[in-house]
Amino acid sequence: MILKERKNKYFDGVIDPYDLSQLKTWVEGLEAEKPQTAAELDEFLNKVDELNHKLRDTAAEIYIKMTCDTADKKIAEDFNAFQQNVSAYYAPKNNVFKNIALDSPALGEWIAKKGKTGTLLEKILKNDRDLFREENVALGIEESQLGVEYRTTVGGMTVEFQGEEKTLPEMAVFMKDNDRSVREAAFRARNGKMLAHKQELNDLFDKLFVLRKKEAENAGYKNYRDYIHTAKGRFSYTVQDVLEFHTAVETEMIPLITELNQKRKDKLGVDKLKPWDMAVPLDGKLLKPVSKPEDLIPKHIEMMNLVNPVFGRNFKAMDDTKLLDLFNRKNKAPGGYSYPLYKYGASFIFMNAVGLHSDLRTLVHEIGHAMHEFAQADLHYTSMLDLPMEAAELASMSMEMLSMPHWNVCYKDNDDFRKARYDQIEDALRFFPWCMVVDAFQQEIYTKADTAELREKAFLDVMDRFSAGVDWDGLKDEKTAQWLFQLHIFEVPFYYIEYGIAQLGALAMYRQYKKHPVQAVENYKKFLHLGHQVPLSDLYAEAGIELKFTREYIKDLVDFIREELEELSK
Ligand SMILES: [Zn+2]
Repeated sequence: MILKERKNKYFDGVIDPYDLSQLKTWVEGLEAEKPQTAAELDEFLNKVDELNHKLRDTAAEIYIKMTCDTADKKIAEDFNAFQQNVSAYYAPKNNVFKNIALDSPALGEWIAKKGKTGTLLEKILKNDRDLFREENVALGIEESQLGVEYRTTVGGMTVEFQGEEKTLPEMAVFMKDNDRSVREAAFRARNGKMLAHKQELNDLFDKLFVLRKKEAENAGYKNYRDYIHTAKGRFSYTVQDVLEFHTAVETEMIPLITELNQKRKDKLGVDKLKPWDMAVPLDGKLLKPVSKPEDLIPKHIEMMNLVNPVFGRNFKAMDDTKLLDLFNRKNKAPGGYSYPLYKYGASFIFMNAVGLHSDLRTLVHEIGHAMHEFAQADLHYTSMLDLPMEAAELASMSMEMLSMPHWNVCYKDNDDFRKARYDQIEDALRFFPWCMVVDAFQQEIYTKADTAELREKAFLDVMDRFSAGVDWDGLKDEKTAQWLFQLHIFEVPFYYIEYGIAQLGALAMYRQYKKHPVQAVENYKKFLHLGHQVPLSDLYAEAGIELKFTREYIKDLVDFIREELEELSK
């Protein structure tokens, strides 16, 4: 089935990144509105929503074309033009629209009619307005420029290895080498390069730190940590909850991971487990889900059908509508994404598949995001009620888990099927310590450790706190360099924990599935269909799980993980 473009109700026409006259007419029309009744306010919000979506779709189409063909210079120009002309013009207008809504005398009546959705939207709009400071706009721009500087510095790093020049991501393959001396040499080369830039990156971070501190102070906060918690609209959990999450991982997860590391050490037959021993596959076997990359599409349609026929149908429709560009080729940007396309009520999936297990996993992940878009296509105000990361990633990470029982569509060999599932669960578990390191470290930086020296000490402390038997003796310099690899700390502070929250949720979804498979998938669908119309904690409840970080809660989950891993090792 080919998806049809949905009709616009208010704004018919296209947005031209080089000629804003049409867009300006639309915007000026909206700016002149003064909604007096609940019905007028509702119509006003729906108009803003439609225009927001139209802008996003235009940006999406340019971005998609650009990533699918990096050699096309014209499209790269269009992309810059869109940013410089359209985005720059429209961003402040969005604030004007929010204010019109918040200042409408009918707001109270409208909220009463809309219930939880109305209350949530008001809360989000108000929060943005309360935190908005004119003087922070320039600081934000400076901040993102420094972010680009980080990206350029680290992205440009190369090392000489085995007689060839390699980028840092290219070094990952040597960390999986069966020859331990190769792994160690790769580790040292990669870290040596980062250490050579340590001073420079610390100076860069100092600048970011000053800007962020200032942004928080401008908004009336005593530290950036508390400011960003509010700014991110984290209404469903507190800073205290996040600290409890750290403790629960430390006390409940680290012991199991330490056991797994002990097994790894024994299997590798080494006397100490070093940081370069962590990525090498223990049985040296590489999983291949398909014989050629193109088979990923029919196989995933089949798997999605088994999770739920709706998902199979939707994914097939994406293929029929040419909303997939999955295979690696020349002149394609790296990476993968699922980009929402409102006009289809779907999304576009981009990736660089070559036919490895990671491709299977990436594709089910992105399909999870896409199914979220299908499910929330007909909801209102979705451009103002953006999916929080903790919900968006719950959709995608849960799809990984819910599709897992059907991976035998790709893995006919029972041992491969078992290994793929074991790795999936072990990888999910192993994500948490580093996630906590990244968050706990930032908590320290922005509340206490405010110099490069204190920062280094704080980092070593959190590394020890979440260590699970990996031996860093004789590698103190390398150890201090680990945070410099984490882009999020430089570019999107405090964002990383949201992956941890979603991953915890996805494991809870899988536990639910094991107990009540049919009900779990139904709950998952209900969760998708809610978009962000209710607060995050309600979304988790609708999915049949809890947004919870206590020791008891995580202990129960760890018990479940342990049983699963034992079952899958047989
Ligand atoms: Zn994702």
